Amino acid sequence: MKAVAHDAKSMGLPLPAIPLPRSEADSSRYTDEEILAEARRLQEAIQQNQRWPISACLSIAPLTLEINRLKKENDVFLIAHTYQTPDIIYGVADEVADSYTLSKAARDAPQQTILFSSVRFMAETAKIVSPDKTVIHPSPEAGCSLSDGITAQDVRDLREQYPGVPVACYINTTAAVKAECDVSVTSSNYLRICERLPGERLIFVPDRFMGAHLQKALEGKKEVIVFDGECEVHAVFTGDKVRKWKKEIGSELSVLAHPECGADVLEEADYVGSSEKLIQEALRLGSENRPDVMLITECGTAERVLAESDNELNLYGACVMCRHMKATQLEDILQALRNPREDQIIEIEPEIIELAQRNLDEMFRLAE
Ligand code: SF4
Repeated sequence: MKAVAHDAKSMGLPLPAIPLPRSEADSSRYTDEEILAEARRLQEAIQQNQRWPISACLSIAPLTLEINRLKKENDVFLIAHTYQTPDIIYGVADEVADSYTLSKAARDAPQQTILFSSVRFMAETAKIVSPDKTVIHPSPEAGCSLSDGITAQDVRDLREQYPGVPVACYINTTAAVKAECDVSVTSSNYLRICERLPGERLIFVPDRFMGAHLQKALEGKKEVIVFDGECEVHAVFTGDKVRKWKKEIGSELSVLAHPECGADVLEEADYVGSSEKLIQEALRLGSENRPDVMLITECGTAERVLAESDNELNLYGACVMCRHMKATQLEDILQALRNPREDQIIEIEPEIIELAQRNLDEMFRLAE
């Protein structure tokens, strides 16, 4: 593994501190040899030996061993979003991806219990597509500035203001908001789906940055009415900052950005895509001997590229951490697996599930 994360202090955006356990994990069930073997497995998978020394891996090994044992014993499928920390992604997750892939994984999983390590709206999405399964969400307080920034009433008001105009919502919305919209979209399919909606106008909620990107892409074809929400993580980046970094790092730099960023940032980017697409593009650049890469997105994407690259890659640390995504730690997952509290089990009213399901079915239909 040859990827290197530049702790770009001049940019003020180093990778976040690693999430060590809050208290010493109970290791009595496992032998020292089992714990050492697990710590080595973790270090090998995470591929950041300096940030994740063997001492750190040893401190989390009893937790990952116990979570994996309980998962097997209780037949639980553990899904983690790319923005979760590497100890969760490489230590205990059965499936790791972006929102679109995860919503399909939740739907298709044969297990009757899904544990969703991510923010609340994603666990709700898993419940919508698998209403008969038990969906456990370890961190009920983990929200999202996009999904928390719009209500079902806001959508009803827009419908009243623009009667008959289809409403597309970004998947970063609550079940109640999805129930009021015609179709959901993700960062990997929003252009394709919105283009295919009937009529010459559409309402897009809640991300104003993605909406602006959509307006530009559909110019001359459709009018896009955009709601005023934003992702607090991607809103931190600005075109000026990216231009400054490009100047500092040099002309060989490839800038890869997430579409939740503002238009001025996307104008500076060489590539725009969902977190999965950004990871694939970074790995592709590495394999083509174009090693200088900057990822303009949440830090989890950079952590996955570091772990999954086999090639020379100078990965500049221009990332911002999502406090909501990072609210979940291994200890929360273990507690929720052992004895989930009522507020850790996703419950949604059947009428909301039915309407939101129609919305997501439409997404799967239009995205294929
Ligand atoms: S990164 Fe942004 S969009 Fe994603 S969960 Fe965090 S606040 Fe929400």
